[in-house]
Amino acid sequence: MAELDEVLRVDELRTYFYTQEGTVRAVDGASFAVKRGQVLGIVGESGCGKSVAAQSILRIVPPPGRIVGGQIIYHRQVAADGASNLSEMLNLTEMHPRGQEMRSIRGSEISMVFQEPMTSLDPVYTVGDQIMEAITLHQNVDRREARKRAIEMLEQVGMPRPGEIVDNYPHQLSGGMRQRVMIAIALSCHPSLLIADEPTTALDVTTEAQILDLMRNLQKQTGTAIVYITHNLGVIAEMCDDVAVMYLGKVVEQADVDSIFYDPKHPYTQALLRSIPRIGQARKRLEPIKGIVPDPYAIPQGCPFWPRCIHAMPGLCDHDQPEYVPIAPGHSVRCHLFRQEAM
Ligand code: SF4
Repeated sequence: MAELDEVLRVDELRTYFYTQEGTVRAVDGASFAVKRGQVLGIVGESGCGKSVAAQSILRIVPPPGRIVGGQIIYHRQVAADGASNLSEMLNLTEMHPRGQEMRSIRGSEISMVFQEPMTSLDPVYTVGDQIMEAITLHQNVDRREARKRAIEMLEQVGMPRPGEIVDNYPHQLSGGMRQRVMIAIALSCHPSLLIADEPTTALDVTTEAQILDLMRNLQKQTGTAIVYITHNLGVIAEMCDDVAVMYLGKVVEQADVDSIFYDPKHPYTQALLRSIPRIGQARKRLEPIKGIVPDPYAIPQGCPFWPRCIHAMPGLCDHDQPEYVPIAPGHSVRCHLFRQEAM
């Protein structure tokens, strides 16, 4: 048993893909924590390993990928009475991906909203059937009660005419409505943790704003912790309490959202922020990050960011991997520049 406010802690997670061309270290020593009832944003360029980290938490990494190291600790809440907040620690990396224990957690206590709702929903079943399947799989209710709850869930996610929509097929709905259905499925069992993997990428900006509003409001109402994965720093600023910045399979910095935006420490986080427009800086030129993301089969030795880093120290950064060290309460950085500070 543990007494703390974390719902999930990922510690030095390593998920590799063994292909004929070589080994892709998609997640290579990622560490981050998600506090109960808060939103953690995971941000990074395409291919940085953020989606594979999410798949690893749910133990749905597709072959030939597998978890080869590290721990994923889920703190299951067993009592909360105001004075105490007891939880039991479950190591998800030790569970069989298709075992009974993991299946009872996946979709019920930890659920996920995927990028593209059209490919995540089954086209031959009505949306009501798909919400009811999630409910009857994890809760002891009959079909009549499950249908009633499915309609309630559709209403909760702001669907117009939920009593009618429940009998529609996915192709009869717009992209925004399909994503609302995905959120209804994910929240139907009242999870402790919701993982949202770029849920608004396939939507136009107006619908994206509506879905972000919906998720923020539902998060406040239900208290569900969220891991929000995105490459969009604007969405991070709007949605998140804490932020983990990933680069080539590693978390290079984690802190609260204000520290990341107003006092970023890692050169990669600073470069990301210099590359996006900000209100009030209309006349300032945006600075792209120099170079390109390295080939995943040939990750540079030492700090993987050194070929693109304006602060790189030859002989150190291109040779030794920096440690991930705390530099302030709740603020950790993986960079040689902060080695002395952490000592
Ligand atoms: Fe740049 Fe060196 Fe820090 Fe890497 S370790 S981010 S190369 S200064």
